[in-house]
Amino acid sequence: MSDESDFYKFAAEFKNRKRPKLAAMMGVNFLVTGVIFLIFLWMGLPNFNGLEWLGFLVMFVLVVVGGTYINWTRSAPNCPNCKSNIVLGRPVHCHLCGQMLKNGCCDRCDVNESWTAMFGNIGANSGNNQVIQYCPHCGVWLDTDFRRLQRRSG
Ligand SMILES: [Zn+2]
Ligand SMILES: [Zn+2]
Repeated sequence: MSDESDFYKFAAEFKNRKRPKLAAMMGVNFLVTGVIFLIFLWMGLPNFNGLEWLGFLVMFVLVVVGGTYINWTRSAPNCPNCKSNIVLGRPVHCHLCGQMLKNGCCDRCDVNESWTAMFGNIGANSGNNQVIQYCPHCGVWLDTDFRRLQRRSG
């Protein structure tokens, strides 16, 4: 059950997790930004020459493709083991070392996810802002580059 291959299995599954189709997301984003672009055109054609139009179009494509790709890599951060969203929810395990939290805290990693943390000083719980290594819900190793969404006071 808890041999080495199981340990690495969930991290690999997380990297290959099901995400929305990249091509579909690209299509939707091009459509939406294209419509916004057409509305701007309708309001008044900018006084561009041929080269400026070409530059503008290249920028437009790069922004949409780049933005969509980044969105895609950030989508569906769900644990393959427990199916929970790893950036949200009340954590049970430390997201840095995978140990059970004590009252929402891990002393070893400077993590404090208890409700009192919002009264603490900013930066006092530096572990909170580090990338998620272990699923905070079931404690399997995931090796992600996601961060926990922080509750903000006020
Ligand atoms: Zn999990
Ligand atoms: Zn820890």
